[in-house]
Amino acid sequence: MRGSSRRAGEEVTEVTFGDPQCPADIREVRDRVAEFVRDRVLPCEPVLDGGGPDAAAALARLRREARREGLWALPLPTELGGQGMPLKAYAHVAEAEGESDHGPAALGSHALLDALMLWRHGSPEVRERYLAPLVSGELMASYAMTEPDVPGTDPFLTRTRAVPDGAGGWRVTGRKWFASGAGGADLVTVLARTDGEAPDREGLSLLLVPAAAAGFRVVRELPVLGAAGQAEIALDGVRLPPGHLIGERGRALAVAAERLQLGRTLRCLRWLGQARRAFGLMRERAATRARSGGVLGDLQLVQRHVFESLLALRTTRPLVHEAATRLGAGLDAHIEVGLAKVAAARTLEQVADAAIQVHGAAGLGPDTALPALFRTGRAARLLDGPDELHIVSVARRVLRPART
Ligand SMILES: Cc1cc2nc3c(=O)[nH]c(=O)nc-3n(C[C@H](O)[C@H](O)[C@H](O)COP(=O)(O)OP(=O)(O)OC[C@H]3O[C@@H](n4cnc5c(N)ncnc54)[C@H](O)[C@@H]3O)c2cc1C
Repeated sequence: MRGSSRRAGEEVTEVTFGDPQCPADIREVRDRVAEFVRDRVLPCEPVLDGGGPDAAAALARLRREARREGLWALPLPTELGGQGMPLKAYAHVAEAEGESDHGPAALGSHALLDALMLWRHGSPEVRERYLAPLVSGELMASYAMTEPDVPGTDPFLTRTRAVPDGAGGWRVTGRKWFASGAGGADLVTVLARTDGEAPDREGLSLLLVPAAAAGFRVVRELPVLGAAGQAEIALDGVRLPPGHLIGERGRALAVAAERLQLGRTLRCLRWLGQARRAFGLMRERAATRARSGGVLGDLQLVQRHVFESLLALRTTRPLVHEAATRLGAGLDAHIEVGLAKVAAARTLEQVADAAIQVHGAAGLGPDTALPALFRTGRAARLLDGPDELHIVSVARRVLRPART
């Protein structure tokens, strides 16, 4: 979601990671990324948030600088033009990178999910045509599962349909919404039923839809608490040439689950970075806002906000890194990712809310990034599956007798 903005006062916020587990060899690159985001990306946020040609020019400049400084596409496989940093190590960097919503796009890690998905599950035609421009940032991708007329939490009810066109390709018809970045995407991965009927557990497939295809239409932007970034799209008999199926026909959910697990973990790391940013703003305000006989931070109820926020940050971080470590090692991480997702979303919402409270009216105004951070925290409790879904899924797994 777009919207974080660096505003007055933020430049004095010291960056403290409180991340003692970060290995020494990663610390150097993490600190360089943190500096890049703080000194180059945050000052550009108002322009980047505004979209249009000015935003495109600013992003292109940031990307050139990131490449020049050897910080481009750190977690992408070397075979795809990235630097091949393993997930466990990249996790420390992702937190610094994600302090701004624009960090991943500026540093070339935004394409990780789509690039890995196409690399592992795309046809040779699709890989040949789209992988390189996706990784270089020339093409933008979006992912569309959720639909207006059925619950996103129950994908077996998906109404979008894809039928064979008789020439090896597909015709796709349906409607999706809240697809992040779909309004400006070149490629949209769409979940569609290719076989059987709702609510069959089999028969769902993923298809790669070029936004330029006839029948693809952006119906409207869907501002989330006032911020742009999500769109509703219509697919009116979109014709896809052969090779645009991702993974096996009817087996979408295996590919989607792989993508979602990594996606959720990356988001959690970025939310940690944003929660730390909100914490820094709160600490700064509490320490400097003068009142008669002292500063706001002298008040015990303000100190409580600081304590509870730090506690949330410090207890969430190990959960998120545990999820990243297990996922990176190829281990089952369902419980760890579920715990991390709920904890990181809550933490961002809680810390941003506390920081707003400590700022008074200024916390809701246009001069700090806090409204955007709070908005991201609130949305975090819904996107990539609402809290309830993860709570139920973790509890069920824990209660299974065989789980050790
Ligand atoms: C900012 C943002 C970005 C998003 N980006 C994308 C994207 O890029 N691509 C995409 O496909 N989707 C995206 N989404 C959609 C998001 O993934 C869905 O909103 C989410 O999965 C929930 O689906 P739903 O909105 O249809 O809610 P529903 O499925 O209708 O659920 C509504 C509510 O019912 C309750 N509920 C549901 N299931 C359970 C359960 N098992 N137990 C208890 N309670 C339950 C919960 O309170 C839940 O919030 C985005 C959403 C937002 C807000």
